[in-house]
Amino acid sequence: MDQPPTPSPLRPEPWDAIVIGAGQAGPFLAARLAAAGQRVALIEREHLGGTCVNDGCMPTKTLVASARAAHVARHAAHWGVRIDGAVRVDLKAVKARKDAVVAQSVANLTQWLGSMPTLEVIAGHGRFTAPTVVQVNDRRLAAPRIFVNVGGRPLLPDWPGIDDVPVLTNTTLLELDELPEHLVIAGGSYIGLEFAQIYRRFGSRVTVLESAPRLIAREDPEISRAVRELLEAEGVTFHVGVSDVRVRRAAATGSEVELEFHTPAGPRRVSGTHLLAAVGRRPNTEDLGLEHAGLVTDARGAIPVDDELRTAVDGIWALGDVHGRGAFTHTSYHDHEIVAAKLLDGAARSASDGGEGRAPSVARSIRERIPAYALFVDPPLARIGASEVELRAAGRPFLKGTLPMARVGRARERGETVGAMKVLVEPDSQRILGAALLGIEADEVIHELLLAMHAGLTVQDLQRLVHIHPTVSEQLPTLLGTLVPVTPELAAPPAAPADPAHPTTGRTR
Ligand SMILES: Cc1cc2nc3c(=O)[nH]c(=O)nc-3n(C[C@H](O)[C@H](O)[C@H](O)COP(=O)(O)OP(=O)(O)OC[C@H]3O[C@@H](n4cnc5c(N)ncnc54)[C@H](O)[C@@H]3O)c2cc1C
Repeated sequence: MDQPPTPSPLRPEPWDAIVIGAGQAGPFLAARLAAAGQRVALIEREHLGGTCVNDGCMPTKTLVASARAAHVARHAAHWGVRIDGAVRVDLKAVKARKDAVVAQSVANLTQWLGSMPTLEVIAGHGRFTAPTVVQVNDRRLAAPRIFVNVGGRPLLPDWPGIDDVPVLTNTTLLELDELPEHLVIAGGSYIGLEFAQIYRRFGSRVTVLESAPRLIAREDPEISRAVRELLEAEGVTFHVGVSDVRVRRAAATGSEVELEFHTPAGPRRVSGTHLLAAVGRRPNTEDLGLEHAGLVTDARGAIPVDDELRTAVDGIWALGDVHGRGAFTHTSYHDHEIVAAKLLDGAARSASDGGEGRAPSVARSIRERIPAYALFVDPPLARIGASEVELRAAGRPFLKGTLPMARVGRARERGETVGAMKVLVEPDSQRILGAALLGIEADEVIHELLLAMHAGLTVQDLQRLVHIHPTVSEQLPTLLGTLVPVTPELAAPPAAPADPAHPTTGRTR
């Protein structure tokens, strides 16, 4: 690429834009800026692609696939298929496959970013030394626009003794190539439950400890109950409402862990060979030199932003998990679209006013985002919009439709009828307010309802659509045919707990 002018010792290297962190927003924003001719420095201290590609979504979904293969093989007789001999999981081969998928993605990203003449990827830890200056290695870079996309890292539980025992995180667990005999998981929320099913299906004993009274406590009670039953049926053990947890090394082996705790059913003791911390994540903001930029974090360590990702300091934006207003890859990626629309497409619109016939770009913002996510247990749980607990707490009347997966022809044909679909509708407008689908293909089927919410389609619009047979989606009109009115009582149930992806307790090592 064109090299920037050699800086004087006093003068930092001038750039048009600096991006700190190559997660799920930074690389794509850097590329958009570079494509617009700007000189962009993209600083990454570990590996391109961040958590999602290296130790989050992508590797865990390869494991979900391997675990499902083992599960199907073990239960092959259910589909009339005989497998003679034991089904064994070769964790080294599972890991090699995971590593190959991750490596391919990182290689693609590296090649793509390397192909841009005005973009330089700089390996190192970026730290502000002034509002417009970032230090990386022995280089000082200055730019009028700085974008922070540094993501987060796992929290450890606040338990007495935790410093004296080996604790795995989602990163280190993914490096194991020997199967844990008994994996104890601290945290019965999204990340913990995915790992619980994966390792149970691989053949480990798995025990989950959750401090809330139920699993995935953000979800409606019957949803969290259904997920618990699904995992219990596969042999995962749960302790919920746990308190006063103490952990220590088991005397016999020195490497195993022993946990003592209280539950509503009385005191309990569990010994495990491995302990995984899955109690939430904390933004990577402590060592960013934010004080030199004039930025202050909130109590969770997040950098506050407005709906267009601007921080309190002009010229600095924060994107992705670091601002605490999204905890997913798709929200981080959307953040880059919001910023690019403002900084690049907005400029293109005024330039093309008066003749080029380009459609005016629409301003984008975090507010346009409909909550949407999935828990990738098998079968998956997919969620959009409001939950029933939230609507009840708001005292808002709604229509509710439910359909067990056992009534879905495609699920019966597949022999996988676990789960149910639930949809919530605004009575006057007949528009979708939210949905929770637990069942085969739920993570794909939900997008029809998500599109309906996005486009403001009504129940009747969806019911007129001719669906393909035999699919799970074809039952959405039937689901919508079960709607009945719900009028929340005045004494509303307690509001859903805070976003479990961003707990306020726990700490990092
Ligand atoms: C086990 C697990 C499974 C998950 N599964 C899913 C899923 O299925 N679907 C989903 O949507 N989300 C999932 N997530 C969440 C998802 O991974 C994150 O929401 C997403 O990666 C956030 O992206 P980000 O852009 O904010 O930052 P990140 O992806 O965390 O990237 C931040 C980058 O910044 C770098 N960095 C940090 N500080 C500095 C610094 N000072 N200087 C230079 N570089 C720095 C880091 O090395 C990292 O590469 C999962 C997370 C985990 C842990």
